[in-house]
Amino acid sequence: MTTPDPDCIFCKIVAGQIPSKKVHEDDDVLVFHDIHPWAPVHVLVIPKQHIATLADTGSEHDALLGKMLSLAPRLMKQLGVSNGFRTVVNTGPDGGQEVYHLHMHVFGGPRPWARG
Ligand code: AMP
Ligand code: ZN
Repeated sequence: MTTPDPDCIFCKIVAGQIPSKKVHEDDDVLVFHDIHPWAPVHVLVIPKQHIATLADTGSEHDALLGKMLSLAPRLMKQLGVSNGFRTVVNTGPDGGQEVYHLHMHVFGGPRPWARG
């Protein structure tokens, strides 16, 4: 579950095989702009390790998940978002997940938004 998946688009972004507009990178987490933004600011926070969905996490991922969530306010501030933001994790088919590498959407900026 944690080895890179050769068919996973986000693993390819982590590996630098597909370009992305990065806003943050550390040992555990990568953050980049969504290619089809729903809001003036729309970034994706992903773990560098391949975890397919939030439903595949356990208590061993507590620190990673905490880090992903706590990055959101800091990055929104850095990106000039000052009036609130929305965080979303789509999980599995009924959750509307399209890319099966865990990711948290963070949306911000003045409304109206294209979606959400
Ligand atoms: P979800 O429906 O939660 O799985 O969302 C997947 C998100 O990944 C969508 O908002 C896509 O626009 C975004 N996405 C897919 N491919 C890329 C890419 N190469 N670079 C940036 N964002 C992407
Ligand atoms: Zn992956």
